[in-house]
Amino acid sequence: MADISHELRTPIAALMATIDVALRKPRTSEQYRATLEECRAISKQLGQLVERIMTLASLDSGNDHTQNSFTDVTEVATGCVAVIRPLAAANSITVELLTDEALELETDAGKLREVLMNLLHNAVEYNKPGGTIELRVKRLPNTIVLEVRDTGIGMTDEVKDKIFERFYRADASRHSTGVHAGLGLAIVREYVSRLEATISVESEPGRGSLFRVTLPAPPLDVPAEEPADEPITTAS
Ligand code: ADP
Repeated sequence: MADISHELRTPIAALMATIDVALRKPRTSEQYRATLEECRAISKQLGQLVERIMTLASLDSGNDHTQNSFTDVTEVATGCVAVIRPLAAANSITVELLTDEALELETDAGKLREVLMNLLHNAVEYNKPGGTIELRVKRLPNTIVLEVRDTGIGMTDEVKDKIFERFYRADASRHSTGVHAGLGLAIVREYVSRLEATISVESEPGRGSLFRVTLPAPPLDVPAEEPADEPITTAS
């Protein structure tokens, strides 16, 4: 509760300050418009923070149910890249998708999309201008592996150990306005466990990070729809 209150305080204070400045003296209609737009942007971020808190609350209370369906993992990855590419381009960051085949799996597509979007958002946020992001989807004998690699600021081993904790931010001086409250990877961790997957991180300060999500998949050498063995009959 203390962490939540602390995170909510910053955007609310920003909203109040923006309104108070506007109210100090009469303004032109353009100035009022600019203030309203600023308030709208802050409110949007506040809404996103509340959304994330509610997601975690729902996971904690057991109200969040996994909805598995036959999913093309490559298609999910392609959709995520399409969303993230314009955001990355605004920071002169290029995004590459490395996959060549449709990889189908019985899984919760919504949760998988959320995991990838969070990792890709971070790959933009903690990258450097002119950097690159690679999303690779690979089929291994018993798993499907999704890797998000960035060429950003990276992290020390000490930071790496804490990034999945709720409200943890390596750079505490980055004041949260809602979106970066240190909840993204906490949600990723919860979703990854609901998907019965695992997540690991490799990183080096100044050189970038690699987040690897490993999803269990049916063994490659046993076809999914193998016909049942027919009893061998011999003609008499
Ligand atoms: P936030 O919403 O603050 O980004 P996250 O839970 O997504 O929170 O991440 C927690 C912290 O982990 C971040 O504040 C940042 O310090 C670190 N982090 C996450 N992803 C990366 C990355 N790709 N490169 C470097 N640091 C990262």
